[in-house]
Amino acid sequence: MQFISTRGRSPTIGFSAAITHALAPDGGLYVPAVWPVVAETAQDAGLVEVAHALIAPFLHGDALESQLPQILAETFDFEVPLTPYVPDAPVRVLELFHGPTAAFKDFGARFLAACIARLRRAGDRPLLVLVATSGDTGGAVAAAFHRRPGVEVAVLFPRGLVSPTQHRQLTCWGDNVRSFAIDGTFDDCQRLVKAAFGDAALGARFELSSANSINLGRLLPQAAYHANAALALSREFGAAASFIIPSGNLGNALACVWARRIGLPIADIVLAHNANRTVPDFLESGTWRPRASVATLASAMDVGDPSNMERLRSLHADVSELRGAVSGASVDDVAIRARIAADADRSGRIWCPHSAVAAQIWWNLPESERRRRPWLLVATAHPAKFREIVEPIIGAPVPLPRSLAELYTLPSREARLPATSDALREALLC
Ligand SMILES: *Cc1c(COP(=O)(O)O)cnc(C)c1O
Repeated sequence: MQFISTRGRSPTIGFSAAITHALAPDGGLYVPAVWPVVAETAQDAGLVEVAHALIAPFLHGDALESQLPQILAETFDFEVPLTPYVPDAPVRVLELFHGPTAAFKDFGARFLAACIARLRRAGDRPLLVLVATSGDTGGAVAAAFHRRPGVEVAVLFPRGLVSPTQHRQLTCWGDNVRSFAIDGTFDDCQRLVKAAFGDAALGARFELSSANSINLGRLLPQAAYHANAALALSREFGAAASFIIPSGNLGNALACVWARRIGLPIADIVLAHNANRTVPDFLESGTWRPRASVATLASAMDVGDPSNMERLRSLHADVSELRGAVSGASVDDVAIRARIAADADRSGRIWCPHSAVAAQIWWNLPESERRRRPWLLVATAHPAKFREIVEPIIGAPVPLPRSLAELYTLPSREARLPATSDALREALLC
């Protein structure tokens, strides 16, 4: 399988090259040159088998093709439950937060790390994976690459602007993972990462790679869990389910669109946003107006210019066609708070602020819609990851899952840096 750039001015490349380079030379994002046909899986196939059937065609002819079974076994080695929500309603919750750092980004990061580690050869320059993070991505990437031979990781986060729980996950690794608290904003961190890619001294010492959400390697495992959930719901309810997906950069939702594109039984896909309304406004007005993000309770979705919109529009160039493929909705912080409080009280289900966006958008549907066809609410993070927000709303402590509790026992290590390329280069070269 070959991949092309969304901007059409880069050579086609294979899967291994696409995940190593992340961004195409023309600045576009890699998408499949042709859409594969996915083999049918057995009725009782599990997540790993469904993932294999879905992902194998994308790796056809690639150096990693024969190693896909082991890569998938490493990626999906924790549970991904589908749980009930409202009794008697055809609605299920896809819980994507049982991995090492308790958010869905563990899947993409682990798949990417398992692939990239297998592409390293003895004698290669060390690979330096740079990641700028506003919170969740850095922890997932650090956990996935921790102690991988031949790979070093530099996590850059804005000092003082991540939650205490996120801070733990960004700074507890050591070994081949270095954490840098940057005196600046998330945008400064991103700027430093971009500049590092053009830095001759760093380029002489390391091969550089990026693990941010535009990397193709993060999308495929996400398509796999959407596919598996779609098959489970279609077996249970005898109809294709509609998905409501908490969205920021649209990586998770795009993976669901891809799963539907290659034939999985998925009906509507709702892009569920917080008060950052760039996408819902675009679907309504037809005019693309990216803007600065505003801070909300669902901070991992605070994105004003979602990067994967470029992939979505390469699939559906025309706005009216795009409106047929996805819909958009948004809820504000007041509604997020109210949903978390109401469900904790009514049923004991505790949402993280991101997952609460999806739940509230389901409640905003007319009752006839909620009852008429199956719905899947995607839960993207464990509430304990955002306990500083959730606990005051529900007035009770949120127990830590075991994976997070273990991270809390590790020492925290970070280096503080001014937001300059010189400071970062010096720190990385020493
Ligand atoms: C990253 C993140 C999102 C947004 O996902 P995108 O793929 O960027 O749309 C939603 N919820 C949580 C908890 C996240 O960490």
